[in-house]
Amino acid sequence: LPARISDIPRLRAEAAPDAPALSEDGRIVTYGELAAAMDAAAARLRALGVRAGDRVMIVGENSVAQITLIFACAAIDAWAVNVNARLSEREVDQFRDHSGARLLVYTDAVSSEAAGHARRHGAGVAGRTGGASPGTDTRSTSHELAEACGAECLSPGARRGGAPAVEAWTAGPLSQAAVQEPVFADGARQAAALIYTTGTTGLSKGVMLSHRNLLFIAAVSSALRGLAPGDRVYGVLPISHVYGLASVMLGTLYAGACLYLQPRFSVEALLRALRHDRLTIVQGVPAMYARLLETLGGAETPLATDLRFAYAGGSPLDPLLKRQVEKLLGQPLHNGYGMTESSPTISQTRLDAPRDDTSVGYAIPGIEVRIDDGGDGVGELLVRGPNVMLGYYKEPALTAAAIDADGWLRTGDVARRDGDGALFIVGRAKELIIHSGFNVYPLEVETVLNAHPDVVQSAVVGIGVANGEEEVIAFVEPHPRRKGDAAELLEELRAHAASRLAHYKCPARIIMMEALPAAATGKILKGRLRQMAQEMAQ
Ligand code: ATP
Ligand code: MG
Repeated sequence: LPARISDIPRLRAEAAPDAPALSEDGRIVTYGELAAAMDAAAARLRALGVRAGDRVMIVGENSVAQITLIFACAAIDAWAVNVNARLSEREVDQFRDHSGARLLVYTDAVSSEAAGHARRHGAGVAGRTGGASPGTDTRSTSHELAEACGAECLSPGARRGGAPAVEAWTAGPLSQAAVQEPVFADGARQAAALIYTTGTTGLSKGVMLSHRNLLFIAAVSSALRGLAPGDRVYGVLPISHVYGLASVMLGTLYAGACLYLQPRFSVEALLRALRHDRLTIVQGVPAMYARLLETLGGAETPLATDLRFAYAGGSPLDPLLKRQVEKLLGQPLHNGYGMTESSPTISQTRLDAPRDDTSVGYAIPGIEVRIDDGGDGVGELLVRGPNVMLGYYKEPALTAAAIDADGWLRTGDVARRDGDGALFIVGRAKELIIHSGFNVYPLEVETVLNAHPDVVQSAVVGIGVANGEEEVIAFVEPHPRRKGDAAELLEELRAHAASRLAHYKCPARIIMMEALPAAATGKILKGRLRQMAQEMAQ
């Protein structure tokens, strides 16, 4: 049994070295190559000065290089601090400072954003192992290409000029001041990754996940999806976040299947991968499926694919969206729920019993859940088990507030359960709006707005107004076909909401936006919307 996540590629390489592990730009990396790349990268990190207990910040986008680095950190008991290269300069620097990283590495050859951060930090002078001293710029070719036209316009073949993708990273300078954290032989205590939460409800928190946390989710994810060698899994969810890291990437490799990496979501790329790579598993977020429908429209006949499992998680699944996607794919759309603090999976619908509602399924095997209700069955969901994080890095008080002495993690989400134990997420406790003394859950209002045929997505927030009152504000992304008549659509939506919602739940304002602000994971940034609504109210 693996004790470190780095054992996953190692064990697979022993069992089937030539089996495909990763696919990037049409090139396959086998398990044998991945394990060798991990060892080479681990040696290179060591040579650069990284020690056990150090944090190594990986600024990257989905790529073989990024995955290699995550495993390499694990192999030397350093913590992989996964940071999405698409984050702003302010965010990247904030995470660098908070994590106290010994070394920053950038997947710059495959991500122009990562290259941008590398340049800004004065990186690009990493040494290779096996002779070359620090100071040798290993990335000049790709840098020049990136300079010349921006990484976007590089054709796949040109990106690395045929060089092995596993070497496509650059290191920044070493921080002498970095603190070395204690190292534990026990995989349940040793941190493997530090991941920052999305920041939907406030500031992002740095979540420490152990090897055991990640291995547990890898095993459960692969079992619940029935993954096996021969499966071809879509790898577009950012690996810098826990859903892409544990559930998708580690789950796939744990099973010996092959992950088809894509740094960014586009409908065209997904359709190409379905057709050309004959994907068998697609894991995504609702926003991704919304884009797919927006592009393809409603389906008369389902797409012909090799899919056997389609899944949405990470944010609320809209019932109408679910039905339409199921028609389009000719497959049930499964749902799952979790959070960074629980590595991430808490519940999932069952492969053999697809649902026709938006239940987030049943607690995964091996964990416990409980609803802290006031007797009406609706209340905050608590979870306990091997998926619960070690804690928030450098935030013992926050950790103590989140996990009690018995090991129960407070999710901050309000849930209920139906007769057979299936869970439903009602909304976030923090997002609850109190209007005229009544409780309004944004999710219910969003579901009603989304049911209008010309709404692509919506997001509802509450803002404080006079006398401690709160007001319901809706942001709506209309279908492009209604671009010209926003005023008319607004009236339609008002009437639509009024006929389906109690008066106190109807939005005081509906604001149209061409695109709702979203994180790289597709999650709508509600904090930003709340701020906008607040400013507009003044
Ligand atoms: P922050 O904690 O920084 O405010 P965040 O909670 O959005 O941000 P994540 O850990 O990425 O950060 O997201 C977890 C949250 O996403 C859950 O607490 C829950 O509110 C929501 N969520 C995840 N999956 C689902 C789902 N299937 N249905 C409804 N909500 C979901
Ligand atoms: Mg959260």
